[in-house]
Amino acid sequence: MNRQTCEVAVPVPLHDTFTYRIPAALSGKVPVGGRVIVPFGARKLIGVVTSLGGKPRPGIKLKDLAEVIDAEPLLPASLLKLAGWISEYYAAPIGEVFRSLLPLHNEFVRSEKVRLTEAGGKRLEELEAQEGRTVQDKFDYEGLSLFRRRAERTLSGLVKKVPNGGKTISRLRRQGWVEVVRGVRRRKSRDKSHNKEAEAPALGSEWLSSGPLTPTAEQAAALQEISQVFDSGKFSTILLHGVTGSGKTEVYSRAIEQCMAAGKTSLLLVPEIGLTPAVAGRFVARFGERVAVLHSGLTPPERSAEWWRLRRGEARIAVGTRSAVFAPVENLGLVIVDEEQDSSYKQGETPRYHGRDTAVVRAKLEGAVVVLGSATPSLETTYQSRSGRYKCLVMEKRVADRALAPVKVIDMRAEFEQTGKNELLSPPLVQGMQEALAGGGQVLVLRNRRGYSNFVLCRRCGVAVPCINCSISLTYHRRRNQLVCHYCGYSRGVPKTCEKCESKHLYFVGEGTEKVEEAVQAVLPGARVARLDRDTAAGKRQAEKILRSFVRGELDVLVGTQMIAKGHDFQGVTLVGVVSVDSLLGLPDFRAAERTFQLLTQVAGRAGRGALPGRVLVQSYHPDHYAVQFGAAQDYGGFYEKEMHFRRLMHYPPFAALANVVVRGRKVEDAIRYAKELQNFFGAAGESKVRVLGPAPAPIARLKKDYRFHFLLKSPDRSALQKLLRQMAEFGNKQKIPAGTVLADVDPLSLL
Ligand code: ADP
Ligand code: ZN
Ligand code: ZN
Repeated sequence: MNRQTCEVAVPVPLHDTFTYRIPAALSGKVPVGGRVIVPFGARKLIGVVTSLGGKPRPGIKLKDLAEVIDAEPLLPASLLKLAGWISEYYAAPIGEVFRSLLPLHNEFVRSEKVRLTEAGGKRLEELEAQEGRTVQDKFDYEGLSLFRRRAERTLSGLVKKVPNGGKTISRLRRQGWVEVVRGVRRRKSRDKSHNKEAEAPALGSEWLSSGPLTPTAEQAAALQEISQVFDSGKFSTILLHGVTGSGKTEVYSRAIEQCMAAGKTSLLLVPEIGLTPAVAGRFVARFGERVAVLHSGLTPPERSAEWWRLRRGEARIAVGTRSAVFAPVENLGLVIVDEEQDSSYKQGETPRYHGRDTAVVRAKLEGAVVVLGSATPSLETTYQSRSGRYKCLVMEKRVADRALAPVKVIDMRAEFEQTGKNELLSPPLVQGMQEALAGGGQVLVLRNRRGYSNFVLCRRCGVAVPCINCSISLTYHRRRNQLVCHYCGYSRGVPKTCEKCESKHLYFVGEGTEKVEEAVQAVLPGARVARLDRDTAAGKRQAEKILRSFVRGELDVLVGTQMIAKGHDFQGVTLVGVVSVDSLLGLPDFRAAERTFQLLTQVAGRAGRGALPGRVLVQSYHPDHYAVQFGAAQDYGGFYEKEMHFRRLMHYPPFAALANVVVRGRKVEDAIRYAKELQNFFGAAGESKVRVLGPAPAPIARLKKDYRFHFLLKSPDRSALQKLLRQMAEFGNKQKIPAGTVLADVDPLSLL
């Protein structure tokens, strides 16, 4: 093998690795799976070595690797393989895959240094000799003379020192008198040893029901099965389908215990719900220092400290959200994915990997056992288990013989006929809340949209106030008294008159959590009401604070978005009210029914988890819809049959592999032009096994200033789909379509 070269994955949106020459001084010191610094165009970048040897493409002069960062491989071989799989499967640039895989960006900083050129030196002498300088010359003189004392200065530092900084430096650069050298340097390391104190205050004792419990019969049976599979030492995937409140967490804990006892490491993935630290807290309480926590609430130094604890083997259990699937542990024995159906496992940006599916592949590469837990497994997962590829364990009963809460659907059309009013809270729901509080219970009210009103409409011309960056109406937020875009964050004041026709008659349509909170407070004057959504949970640990006071009984009613629906083990809730899930049903997405069913089952699962029994009231204008009906009956099997019939008919997953290809551009002409180029490409590719629909304007035709068109690719043959996407990427390179214009989303969870 040619050991004079190596392949490096560089963080740029290109699909291939790049070949570099290893200079003699570094020979034998380049670790596969370690980081190196390489020249790339005018820049220096940090890349990951994926292999040694390798033939450069003919006609290309190789550049030398600049520096080796890691003496030892940073990534175990299995994670290198996993990165390759992600790049292939999700049609993602390999360098960007590593960027997700390695959360160590904080260890390095970009540096931009400015250096005097030869021409610059001459110019400086000229200026020194010159008398009566113009203002501009004077600025240039001061800028250039700063270099005499020191050879190089950082760009940012210089800009501050030179008069008229930014402008002067650009002029000096344009004239060729100075040049900017871009590089990276290691950040001066401060002591970043992990500080468990930081987590402790947030974890009140209410989250820490952590002592081992005596397993129920169903828990014991599930554990025995898991243990048998584990002992066989082979890769295997198990679906743990346990109703809400059946005690899945206890099963996870014990399975992890067994894995620890066997000397192996484990991963526990949990969804992103603003509550991850608390969930993780339970495991920290049980397993102590052996747990490392990885979630999005960590600062970069905290994150890299946890990463290193895992890498060094000091921590042997990783608990965290999606990216914890990349925890750098070796000797992996067990991977658990809690709430495996949760859409937060899919990354919304490149690489668009699914944490659950990646977990299964990782386990396969390392011969580990995977447990996918859910009360409402995704159709894909149940399909795998019914076709025999996954083993299925069922827990049908709640612990301590508690009953599942009965669900009643309130027909809002009938309510309207009776009252003649479109009320936000129907009389039966109001009565239900009053009764629950009178009985000493607590109430959860779900509304899956934040803000006050959905949009502001002109009564005269019917125009809503749109976002300036997106083809979306702005949502009114009352407390902030602003209109806000939920897609890009743009906000503005509320206009007094219609900006189109100047009519004064603006009205607010639809209602979000903010308005629901207000309405609840109005019908329950004495009650302590709070709200949990992305607005109230914006601050650090804010979500936890609200949830904790609810758990402690300091609140009577909690209004919120799906953030209140998932996972929580509230013991005091006797009524769950769902204001409406109709807007979820109406989304242009083939998973709309599945999402609605899951949300209903999940939120219903929050009622009656303690000593007092619970019930659920669901308001709907579509009470006959099968997702609402099956959701109310908490009939997973019934929903599965019906929905699978539809998916089969429509050639949707799990019966076909799907990819959404979005073409975007700041100018609509560009987006159209590139969409047409792709259309021609798909036509010419003649891949008969892949159906290509589109181009069509994306449902959100403009997003964050970009115009968007999309293609939907469907195929019963996944490898044909992958091949076509690879060819598409090559075509894009050949045609010089700018990077970032074409986005491929494989197994998309959203088609918006
Ligand atoms: P799930 O995740 O399945 O909805 P949890 O794991 O949150 O359920 O468990 C529900 C509740 O039951 C928790 O309060 C938990 O402490 C309790 N629990 C779990 N297993 C047992 C057991 N074997 N005996 C008593 N209580 C249990
Ligand atoms: Zn108007
Ligand atoms: Zn917007």
